Amino acid sequence: MALAEDAQVPARYHVETLGCPKNAVDSDKVVASLQADGLVPATSAADADLVVVNTCAFIEAAREESIDVALELAGSRKPGAKLVLTGCMAERYGDELAAALPEADAVVGFGGEGALADVVMKRKPTGVRDLLELPRPAPAAPWAYVKIAEGCDRACAFCAIPSFRGKQRSRPPDAIEAEVRALVEMGVSEIVLVAQDLAWFGRDAGEPGALTPLLRRLDQLAPNGLRRVRLLYLYPSEVRDPLVSTMLELEAVVPYFDLSLQHASAPLLRRMRRWGSGERFLRMLDGIRAAAPGAAFRSSFIVGFPGETETDHHALLEFLGAAELDWAGFFPYSREEGTAAAAMDGIVPDDLMHERLRECVDVQDPITWAAREAIVGTEVEVLVDQVGEDGARPVGRTYREAPEIDGVVQLEEVGAEPGTLVRARVREALGTDLRASALG
Ligand code: SF4
Repeated sequence: MALAEDAQVPARYHVETLGCPKNAVDSDKVVASLQADGLVPATSAADADLVVVNTCAFIEAAREESIDVALELAGSRKPGAKLVLTGCMAERYGDELAAALPEADAVVGFGGEGALADVVMKRKPTGVRDLLELPRPAPAAPWAYVKIAEGCDRACAFCAIPSFRGKQRSRPPDAIEAEVRALVEMGVSEIVLVAQDLAWFGRDAGEPGALTPLLRRLDQLAPNGLRRVRLLYLYPSEVRDPLVSTMLELEAVVPYFDLSLQHASAPLLRRMRRWGSGERFLRMLDGIRAAAPGAAFRSSFIVGFPGETETDHHALLEFLGAAELDWAGFFPYSREEGTAAAAMDGIVPDDLMHERLRECVDVQDPITWAAREAIVGTEVEVLVDQVGEDGARPVGRTYREAPEIDGVVQLEEVGAEPGTLVRARVREALGTDLRASALG
């Protein structure tokens, strides 16, 4: 390959990321490890000597997309370039994946992700090789995900993640603070904390409830330029004091609650091996709204889990109508080999599952739009994510919108630099997006 032909020319890499924000963090760190090993970014996948596809194994559709992308990049790479598959699919289906995709030069599980140059290019790795603790490259946006733990201690019946990500492994708070501090120094204003089960952070280290003191530590970085800390993925049983009151008290932590509810019917939640019920969830929302009327809520739900009855489905529809979440995502149940649900009876036929999903969306969409309409005329603080090119408006977000997941705010005025906070008045709701004009 190029490196062997001409040792003076540094090899170029391209990393393609599929799946969730947690995978995006891994990709950042894979990039850091490649750069530490002397590789430089390619201008495109076709120009790279090493193409890395960070795969997602979450559900069948995600696996198919990972394979499609890998095949496409295998076909478009330049002669001699190496193709490596990493990420959840590589970890979970390593041998099968290697056999099914002979185009790949290597399939590397989590253990090898921090040393790809070594695995693929026969280079000697240097420095730290624990992916969680690798330094980050300079971020391209004024926000960044920070993974505070890996793995999960729960056993939700539909989920295969604990089987290949393992039990929870929390990072030391010092290391997290150092990473956040470095990101802020590189111009990041908003940190998005992620983990499989964020509020469980610290339990494996004998420190339950450690998320609250971690938030206090991060809040101390406000004078350095940290303007927002956002939390993604809160298991509902853990959404209580002191975590909630701390989230609402600290200036940098936004009142955005991403609750992992999955359903609202208590019997179905038990079948899913999860905590909660629609009534409990509504009480939780009421309690938070009473303390912080402007709090924003997101959740995701699985539709068509084995054994889901019409009664369960109606409990979910009723809950959605009552909860008035700002944002909600609905996913058709996907059978995952090796999970408890894979052996369950009561399979919901595909057409019924999709009909139920449509009904959920039909209830939720007007709620989301109404929540956006309700903000029209109010004053908001927008973090500018990117400057519009070719006359396009700058685009940013208030605390109500998580990056890459929710809507955005288009700012009428040009000239706002990424990373700046702009006070603006919302002029119009455009479905999930907002149009706003800067004040003063
Ligand atoms: S809490 Fe999330 S990651 Fe953990 S088992 Fe349940 S669904 Fe999977």
